[in-house]
Amino acid sequence: MANCPISDTLERFARGELSDSETRACEAHLLACGRCAKTLSELPVGQDLIQEIREMRRSREALAPHLSGLSALEENLTTLLFPQAEPDPD
Ligand SMILES: [Zn+2]
Repeated sequence: MANCPISDTLERFARGELSDSETRACEAHLLACGRCAKTLSELPVGQDLIQEIREMRRSREALAPHLSGLSALEENLTTLLFPQAEPDPD
């Protein structure tokens, strides 16, 4: 995939320091680029990101009708970044 963000950009993404448009572009790239998803997961702030995603999942239950697209993104990001963190089917 062309135009991979540099690790500094991924770190700023994980910290929520990018603009909205930059964040959306970075999310879209991460869903398409396993290499960058792996890079992000190896950053210390990647652990913070997954925590934020989990918090978003909790809060989205109140907003579910509006967030179907976002929830799909969260699922995909979680699977990409932390496949071992998927909940047990039980
Ligand atoms: Zn990439």
